[in-house]
Amino acid sequence: MKTMTCRDLGGPCDLAHRADTADEIIKAQDRHLKEAEKSGDATHQEARQAMKARWRHPKKSMAWYTGTKQTFAALADD
Ligand SMILES: [Zn+2]
Repeated sequence: MKTMTCRDLGGPCDLAHRADTADEIIKAQDRHLKEAEKSGDATHQEARQAMKARWRHPKKSMAWYTGTKQTFAALADD
């Protein structure tokens, strides 16, 4: 398992996500952003909008995914 925080994934807080793959950790962050939005947390709004835009424009967002996957791959397993 590897750990990335909300902040590592473009968000504003230090909540840690743990997963075995970069895809899983991106999905965990997506869930976290959705929950923050539902609970009316304004600090996560910008990150939530950015994540929504990524789902809508996957090609344009490739650099973000690639960068996140590289960061994930470079992390030490714990
Ligand atoms: Zn967060």
